[in-house]
Amino acid sequence: MSKAKVNQGINLDEYKDVWIIAEQRDGKVLNIALELLGEGRKLADKLNVNLTAVLLGHNMDEAAEELIKYGADNVLKVDHELLKVYTTDGYTKVIVDLVKERKPEIVLIGATTIGRDLGPRMASRIGTGLTADCTRLEIDETDGKLLQTRPAFGGNLMATIVCPKNRPQMSTVRPGVMKKAKYNPDRNGNIENIVPNIKDEDIVAKVLEVIKSEKKEAGLIDASIVVSGGRGLGDAEGFKLIEEFAKKLGGVVGSSRAAVDNGWIDSSHQVGQTGTTVRPKLYIACGISGAIQHQAGMSESDCIIAINKNPDAPIFNIAHYSIVGDLYEIIPAIMDAIDDA
Ligand code: FAD
Repeated sequence: MSKAKVNQGINLDEYKDVWIIAEQRDGKVLNIALELLGEGRKLADKLNVNLTAVLLGHNMDEAAEELIKYGADNVLKVDHELLKVYTTDGYTKVIVDLVKERKPEIVLIGATTIGRDLGPRMASRIGTGLTADCTRLEIDETDGKLLQTRPAFGGNLMATIVCPKNRPQMSTVRPGVMKKAKYNPDRNGNIENIVPNIKDEDIVAKVLEVIKSEKKEAGLIDASIVVSGGRGLGDAEGFKLIEEFAKKLGGVVGSSRAAVDNGWIDSSHQVGQTGTTVRPKLYIACGISGAIQHQAGMSESDCIIAINKNPDAPIFNIAHYSIVGDLYEIIPAIMDAIDDA
């Protein structure tokens, strides 16, 4: 036998390159794809391999160009009428066929609604592992394996998971956690048009119509200022003050889960482990204790200001500026100071 590393019949040396599955909507690349490109670039450089973006849909020429400008070396563009909207059967078949043929070492998928549906299907069809909801990815310096870190046991500890025997190593990655790749208008790369082997009968569950939700999105992921309220507000009325404060600062409203569970605000505003992960320039936590599950969604913010009447509240351990006192006195005072400035 050659020196090739063989595991359960799999020749690990055959697997190369880092892939990201790039989500698009109506031909527009989603932010999560740019975050995966940022993280994928880091891993590809470490392994000295190429970074490939896999793009499925219909009429997406601009999206493919954009992925190159954001750091992909190659784009595998699979443009087909049957892939216009996401279907579990169609997308799984096309991507699994590509993975089996081209053998990537690592595949990163966004932990979005689509990614959470697609990832496990792909992993099961390929016969490899999948670490869901990763918040950190690194390459092990000793053996080049992917170290996939994610919260475990209700967020009380971080577990680092490896996929020792199978390939590719697959992870879904939480939106808003990784830094977006930088845009370079002069960047060049290779866009390969793939003709998929897909027929109408491959898609068992058909999408008959897409009806856009009328629910107003909180807009947390892209906000540069987030003002969040928690149980310390006392009631739903308290969010009027948070809304006013956020508006004055040009930010958006976030919340703790306790506020959502109390029915004070819609769950789309929830920040944390089971809500949205945010990374704004400024995060203001008002009447939020700073439970580990809340911190999991905001601790990477550039600047954190906490307002809490309990000087021992855990949020103060990660806050850059701590204001101890009653939020109903402090927030109006800050807003008055802004008006006077
Ligand atoms: P509390 O912990 O009750 O804190 C209220 C704070 O307000 C206190 O510190 C108090 O001193 C302060 N306060 C009271 N009155 C005032 C006042 N007038 N002025 C100033 N301060 C005041 N939580 C999340 O937020 N996001 C998640 O995604 C999330 N996911 C979870 C997942 C799991 C599996 C589990 C088990 C829990 C999760 N939680 C999550 C819940 C989390 O553990 C906490 O229960 C929750 O974050 C507490 O919310 P809170 O800080 O608003 O409330």
